[in-house]
Amino acid sequence: MENTVLTNKKRILLKLTGKILGSCTQEPINKSAPSTLGTSSLGTCHFKDLIEQIKLIKQKHSISIVIGGGNIIRGDAQSLASGTTPAIAHQAGMLATVINGLILKDILEKNNIEAELLSSIVCPQICKAVSQENIDNACKEDKVIIFTGGTGAPFFTTDTNMIIRALQVGAKEVWKCTNIDGVYSSDPKKDKNAKILKNIKYSQAISQNLEIMDITALILAEKHKIIVRVFNIFEDNSLIKASNNINFGSLIS
Ligand code: UDP
Repeated sequence: MENTVLTNKKRILLKLTGKILGSCTQEPINKSAPSTLGTSSLGTCHFKDLIEQIKLIKQKHSISIVIGGGNIIRGDAQSLASGTTPAIAHQAGMLATVINGLILKDILEKNNIEAELLSSIVCPQICKAVSQENIDNACKEDKVIIFTGGTGAPFFTTDTNMIIRALQVGAKEVWKCTNIDGVYSSDPKKDKNAKILKNIKYSQAISQNLEIMDITALILAEKHKIIVRVFNIFEDNSLIKASNNINFGSLIS
């Protein structure tokens, strides 16, 4: 049975960059009130808005999350900077996603959102393994599944993992939550004439090398007709906007 029919809600998979945890240093709204949100050694993290939005969109959608680890380690950069063996650096990057997922699960649960942490790298003390059985059980219970450990294989990306996990949970749509407003014709930080592209075909994204996702992820998305939406998670109420407005951000289909 497909996971989509286990609940009546449309299943969406979000890909959150690890920067959500690592670079968020905004002050809590009420500093005197004890925060139910998380504070990690990665930096002070106040996810209030994000968590509130997940709570709201969960009424309409079944949510799964693939979390990145780039705020802690990116394999390529680590290897270049320190000479770490590339495969080892990538494994360290995958472990970083587990750390982020552990924190995210705790924060979700402190805010009464039931979550299941699954990892491709077996860590029995802290989470279950990614298996179809564990995925199906979490879907049945309408838990927010947090996928960590990447694909489990070095030299892949969390974008590729995003498409694989979307297929496993039965999501026809993934939301790639980034720090830019959508897909641009060229890098908007370097080219002032860069234009936002609202609707892009997979083939265009691949042939024009638009650098929004790696080619492996795009090819897999195209093969299985997974719609990819790209938007800025750091914009106010971005998840609500994505939920209510199909024109929010860019759409690759
Ligand atoms: N990674 C990997 N295989 C995977 C997924 C991730 O080796 O299937 C490694 C890769 O080195 C990557 C790091 O994990 O740089 C952290 O993930 P990512 O850079 O995608 O995190 P994000 O930028 O989304 O926070």
